[in-house]
Amino acid sequence: MHNGPVNVLLVEDDEDDYVITRDLLSEIEDEQFDLEWVSTYDAALEAIQHRQHDVIFIDYRLGARTGLDLLREMVGNYFYVAPIILLTGQGDHEVDVEAMQAGAADYLIKDQLQPPLLERSIRYAIEHTRMLNAERKQAQELLHQQAAAMKASMDGIALLNQSGEYIYLNDAYVRMHGYDSPEDLIGQSWEVLYDAGEIVRFKQVIIPTLWRDGQWQGEAVGRKRDSSTYPQEMSLTKIEAGGLVCVVRDVTERKRAEAQLVYDALHDALTGLPNRALLMDHLNQAIARSQRQEDYGFAVLFLDLDRFKVINDSLGHTVGDQLLIAFACRLKACLRVIDTFVRLGGDEFALLLEDVHDLSDATRVAERIQAELTAPFNLNGHEVFTTVSIGIALSKTGYDDAGTLLRNADIAMYRAKTDGRADYQVFNTAMHTDAVKLLQLENDLRWALERQELQLYYQPIVTIETGRFTGFEALLRWQHPQRGLVLPAEFLSVAEETGLIVPIGDWLLREACSQLRTWQRQFPVNPPLTMSVNLSSRGFSQPNLVRQVEQILSETHLDAHHLQLEVTEGVIMENLESSIKLLQLRNMGVQLCIDDFGTGYSSLGRLRCLPIDILKIDRSFISQVEEGKNLEIVRTIMALAHHLGMKVTAEGVETKQQLALLQTLNCEYGQGYFFSQPVDSKVAGALLAALVVSQPVKMI
Ligand code: C2E
Ligand code: CA
Ligand code: CA
Repeated sequence: MHNGPVNVLLVEDDEDDYVITRDLLSEIEDEQFDLEWVSTYDAALEAIQHRQHDVIFIDYRLGARTGLDLLREMVGNYFYVAPIILLTGQGDHEVDVEAMQAGAADYLIKDQLQPPLLERSIRYAIEHTRMLNAERKQAQELLHQQAAAMKASMDGIALLNQSGEYIYLNDAYVRMHGYDSPEDLIGQSWEVLYDAGEIVRFKQVIIPTLWRDGQWQGEAVGRKRDSSTYPQEMSLTKIEAGGLVCVVRDVTERKRAEAQLVYDALHDALTGLPNRALLMDHLNQAIARSQRQEDYGFAVLFLDLDRFKVINDSLGHTVGDQLLIAFACRLKACLRVIDTFVRLGGDEFALLLEDVHDLSDATRVAERIQAELTAPFNLNGHEVFTTVSIGIALSKTGYDDAGTLLRNADIAMYRAKTDGRADYQVFNTAMHTDAVKLLQLENDLRWALERQELQLYYQPIVTIETGRFTGFEALLRWQHPQRGLVLPAEFLSVAEETGLIVPIGDWLLREACSQLRTWQRQFPVNPPLTMSVNLSSRGFSQPNLVRQVEQILSETHLDAHHLQLEVTEGVIMENLESSIKLLQLRNMGVQLCIDDFGTGYSSLGRLRCLPIDILKIDRSFISQVEEGKNLEIVRTIMALAHHLGMKVTAEGVETKQQLALLQTLNCEYGQGYFFSQPVDSKVAGALLAALVVSQPVKMI
């Protein structure tokens, strides 16, 4: 059973009993015993610290204290103690159970001691303890591993006893809460790591759930040593022995990232203002409130910077961006905090004014905004002035959804803009009707080209000196299935805005060129007939314009010299690369004409540098020239044009008197109702046939 003698410690205050025990042991034949005898409680404690025993006998009666006390103290305080056999007297029978519970390996009644019994008890005790120790060692190892894992864990792990006091905390737990060592928290109540509000929540919700389900998982707000708080993800699990395991993770970073995502989703990166999504949210809240609360009203203002594109194009996008930021800042400073001021995108902003009782509350804000903008912005050394067009939509006009309200404000803003910018307009239902019509028009126009509803009319241009047709101006008409013939004034701006003007312009240039080619073949006069085609702003700014013109000319076999392109002063001034484009067209042989001359603001200096063949004096000058008004202007324009080597066409000639005056001024060409209205191609063909047959064509 054992190699070498078995080391026995006997704790016995009675020497006689010691002698008896010693003798009994010596009677055991198979085993050698090395017996150490101590007679007092303290000597026993001393002995187990200095020597390793294989088995310990403790007498129950040890003077003032009992062997049971000693047993408990040994088992409770020492990591490893040899198997303990309690020796009791006859009368100490009740002690048995207690002894076993306290950890005794066995108990023996002194009077009944016999060598074989003693031997068996010792052998079992040693064997039993060895087995226990092996198990305990394994369990210990496992615990060690677990403890190491817990210690190394990034998550905070703590054990709490049934009264909610910390009995174990790993490093992460301690650090997470700003403490230095587990000792700072051991024995403390969990409540030290939570704020009052959170403690209430734990007591009312979390802990009851925990006792019911055995576990709880969720988010909580932890409190650090310095009283700052942090968001934690927490998992609580009840343990069988009582108490619980608490695992926490600091989710500050994740929360921050989530918050950033939410913030980004609701804010504009450039100006830092909230964006459309946030406006819609606030708008919906305001709508809900106005429905609940009779006296609550609000207003939506739609703001659009005037001529922002010009600033962007001329000073560059960086300055454009700076302007948007500066604008946002300046406005924010003059608004109330409760108002929601957002950037919708581009140069569009919106403002939700809360607690607006009547219209004047809103218009006053619009006026204040406009007043704020009278001072220039200083951007990168540029002084930039800007104005803003504002549309106002009030709540309680019967439109009660956010999208509609914002759109109404947009419609009113659009009206403000077309009414001359730097203005504000309040939405009314008539605007809505107009807007719907416009939308309808836009829809119809999308189909017009495909359904071949677009048509060209031709208005003759006449050589004033001879009265002969020199050519035609192609003018666009829309044969609308319901509305009949629609004039360009009604749909050109829509076509421009939607970009539909590009495919339309492409189509009409091709149509006009091929019509002219047909007429040139039918009526081969000398010089050949010309065709004037108007170029829209958008059409002119197309990067492939020159190539497109070239292509159409070659497709229709038209000589470039017989095509005139008309552009307005505005179009030339707005396009930075217009000189290059004009020059390229001119080099191709195309003739260039400035349309509506006198209504725009072209600089005469600039005009000199441009390759222009013809100036078309605007109708407004011609219509009044017979009354003597504008005569000087017309004369000056004429002189200027001739001086620059350009020819002049007078638009809108309606009377004989106007024609007579133009003749005296040596104006080359005339166009107007006096000669002919714009007519369709059939009528124009008939006119040509009549004129060519009746009059021989002379050289001009
Ligand atoms: P515009 O280029 O100045 O065209 C001349 C306009 O004056 C035409 O109006 C014509 O019908 C009108 N007109 C001609 N003679 C007289 C007259 O004696 N008295 C009066 N009161 N008016 C006269 P229309 O056809 O309505 O075109 C209006 C404007 O629409 C044009 O002005 C032009 O800017 C634009 N437009 C017309 N067709 C086209 C086109 O094919 N492409 C582009 N981009 N614009 C076009
Ligand atoms: Ca024209
Ligand atoms: Ca014109």
